[in-house]
Amino acid sequence: MKCLHCDNCQFDKKRIRFPVELKGEIVEVLSEAFVCSKCGESQMNSEQMNQLRKVSADGYRKKHGLLTSAEISQYRKRLNMSQTQFAEYLNIGEASIKRWETCFIQDKSQDDHIRLKCDEVYAELNAFEVHRKMNPPDIYSGYRPFNLEIIKNVVAFFVKHGKAKSKLYLNKTMFYLDFLHFKKYNKSITGLKFVPIDLGPCPDGFQALFSYLEKNDILTKKGRHNFVSNIEPDLSLFDDQEKETLARIVHILDKEGEQYLFNLSHEEIAFKDTEFAKPISYEFAKYLLIA
Ligand SMILES: [Zn+2]
Repeated sequence: MKCLHCDNCQFDKKRIRFPVELKGEIVEVLSEAFVCSKCGESQMNSEQMNQLRKVSADGYRKKHGLLTSAEISQYRKRLNMSQTQFAEYLNIGEASIKRWETCFIQDKSQDDHIRLKCDEVYAELNAFEVHRKMNPPDIYSGYRPFNLEIIKNVVAFFVKHGKAKSKLYLNKTMFYLDFLHFKKYNKSITGLKFVPIDLGPCPDGFQALFSYLEKNDILTKKGRHNFVSNIEPDLSLFDDQEKETLARIVHILDKEGEQYLFNLSHEEIAFKDTEFAKPISYEFAKYLLIA
């Protein structure tokens, strides 16, 4: 190789900062090139050019919150698929997969499509979002919109500070939290709907909810049934009345125990007078056996 500027033949391999224009934007990236030892001009072989294209595309993707080429191929490998199988799975041409795994930037809707089909937590979060949109606040949600951020912190709060640490007891605890709050203030805290099942009143879709919390590293199982919380609950999300109701439930748990709330929940008119697996109306809150 000869320097195009000074005819020198000695080069050093160096990592250099390059400004690259992509989709009308300048992205700065670090990539390897041969630098002339005499005049400092840089040259690239075709492998280095490909590498530069790849890191530039990834630089752009990171800047715009898109999956990087490595993340896309990781998704494919986690699903144990070849590029051909992956293309079929995503209903997209195989050439696109090959290009996305290198230097061709997927657009935002393609990126969303990949995540929905490959990322369990993302897909579940999306399902909650759809659920929320389809279920505007009403008497079955305690006139509050379903709020995953609040739910996350309620669960973390009870796992950290309450006696109820298993799914079974947390379900009852959330029921009492929302219904007691509604009894006093005519609105729930979490926006959850509750349904009567064999185990008492439970949040509608609680299995999906807990699996979301586990996969998202909010909760971890400790032993057979109990959870530990990996986050410190953010109490600034709650107003003062909500904080009082949270404290009231913790107080009852401390004094009477989680089994007491579990047993009591089966005596509630809200539970007994609602058809199996149908949403419980918060109207029943006025008959709640605790105050
Ligand atoms: Zn030179």
